[in-house]
Amino acid sequence: MTVIVGLEVHVQLNTRTKLFCGCSTDYRDDEPNTHVCPVCLGLPGALPRINRTAVEYGLRVAKALDMDVLEESEFARKNYFYPDLPKGFQITQYDRPLAINGTIEIEDDAGREKEVRITRVHLEEDPGRLVHRGGGDRARYSLVDYNRSGIPLLEIVTEPDLRSPQEARRFLVKLRSILEYLGVFDGEREGALRVDANISLEGHDRVEVKNISSYRGVEKALTFEVTRQKNLIRRGVPIVRETRHFQEARGITTSSRGKEEEHDYRYFPEPDLRPLRVADWVAGIELPELPAARKNRFMEQYGISLIHARTLTGDVKVADFYEKVAHVDPLLAATWVADTLLGELNYRSMSIAKVPPDHFADLLSLIKQDVVTDRAAVQILRVMLDRCAAGEAPESPEAIMERLNLGKAAGGEFTAIVRAVIEAHPQAVEDYRSGKKGALNYLVGQVMKETRGRADPRELGRIVTEYIETSEV
Ligand code: ZN
Ligand code: MN
Repeated sequence: MTVIVGLEVHVQLNTRTKLFCGCSTDYRDDEPNTHVCPVCLGLPGALPRINRTAVEYGLRVAKALDMDVLEESEFARKNYFYPDLPKGFQITQYDRPLAINGTIEIEDDAGREKEVRITRVHLEEDPGRLVHRGGGDRARYSLVDYNRSGIPLLEIVTEPDLRSPQEARRFLVKLRSILEYLGVFDGEREGALRVDANISLEGHDRVEVKNISSYRGVEKALTFEVTRQKNLIRRGVPIVRETRHFQEARGITTSSRGKEEEHDYRYFPEPDLRPLRVADWVAGIELPELPAARKNRFMEQYGISLIHARTLTGDVKVADFYEKVAHVDPLLAATWVADTLLGELNYRSMSIAKVPPDHFADLLSLIKQDVVTDRAAVQILRVMLDRCAAGEAPESPEAIMERLNLGKAAGGEFTAIVRAVIEAHPQAVEDYRSGKKGALNYLVGQVMKETRGRADPRELGRIVTEYIETSEV
C-alpha cells in the first residue's frame, strides 16, 4: 500500500524584530510578556508595519528553491477566536502567497535522488504561547505569553510527494540545512520549527496530524499513523477524514473529534497592509554557497570522500568548523570531525558552536605528530567537551594531556611496564610459547591497561613479542 505524505512546515525566521512591529524576537530567556507592544498585543487602533528583512528572507528561500515569486502577493486575515491570538485573527497570506512552484532534492528510501515539489511559501505571524497549568486536557487554568506573538513565520507547503515517514524526516533535515545555509533560520532554537503532516494510504481518505515540533516527532507520528491506518483497513473499518494531534510523550496520535475543530476562517484581504510587489527584488539577492555545491567543493578542494563531504556539509555550522581546522590535515580533520566529534556531540546533545576550533586543531596536530595515540586523543576530546558543556573555561589539549599524563609513553617507561606485566603473568607467557597465540592479546591488553591507552596497540604487540622471544622469563 503506497504511503502518501505532504507537509506544511512553519519555521521562525531569525530576524532581529517581529513581523509587524519593532519588538525584539530574542525572547526565549526572558520573562513572559516583556517583548510586547500595542501592535503584537492587538490593542485597538494599532497598525501593522511590514518588516523588510522578513520579506527579504522569504525571497531568499524562494530563490534558493527555484520558485516563482508572485508579481503581487497579499496579506489576509484568518479569523478565529483563541486566546493566543489577541486580535481575533492571524495576519497571513492566503490565495496570493509570496512564491509558488519550487523543488527540494532528497534521497528516497532506495538511496536515489528525488525531487519533492514545493507548492508555495508564505509569510505569517506566529501566535502567542499558551501554558496549561495542571496537565493537558484537565488543566485548571492557562497562562498566555505574547512574547512569541508576531514573530515572523515562513510557511512552506509541499506537494504530497513523500512516500514514507523516513523520507519525511530526510526532507526536513534537508530543508533545515538549506534554511541555515541561507542564514534565515536557527534550528537549534526550541520551537523554531513546527510541522503539520497530511498522510493517507493510496485509495483511502487523508488524515492531518497537527503541530509536531521536532524532526524525530514527524517520523514517529507518521510511523504511528501508517500502522494505525493499515490496521483499520485490514479490519475493514473506513479511515475517517479528520485532524489528529500528536502526543509527543506517548508517541501516538489522537483524534481531535472532527466537528469541534472545523473552522470557517472567513479570509479577507488585510486592509491595513498594502499588497507586496517585491518580485523585482529577487534579481538583487545573492545566494550563499548551498549544501550541494559545498559538498562538491569539499571533495575537490580537500580530497575527502563523498560520505565525509556529505556529513560535513549537512549542517552549515559543522561545515564552517571543518574549514577552520582542515589546515592541519584535511583527511585527518574529516575523519575526526565526521566520525568522532559529531558522535561525541550527539551523545551530549551539544552544539558544535560550543567547541573552540583552535583547540580542536591543536588536538589534531598532537595526533598528526604522533604525540598521542588515537585512544588518548579521544580521552582528551571528551575532557574538552565536558568542560565546554559545563561552561568552564576551555583548556588546551596539551594542558589536558599533561595534567592527565596521556602523552604517548616513552620507550623506557614502556619496557618497564612490559617487563612487570610479563613477570606477573607467567602462565600467559607459557601459553604463548606453547603456541596459543591468543595469549599475546591478553598480555597486550594488560600492558594497555597499565599505560591507560597511551600506547599504540600494534606497536605494543611487537614489543611484547620481542620481549618474550628474547628473554628468559
Ligand atoms: Zn510588538
Ligand atoms: Mn500557517
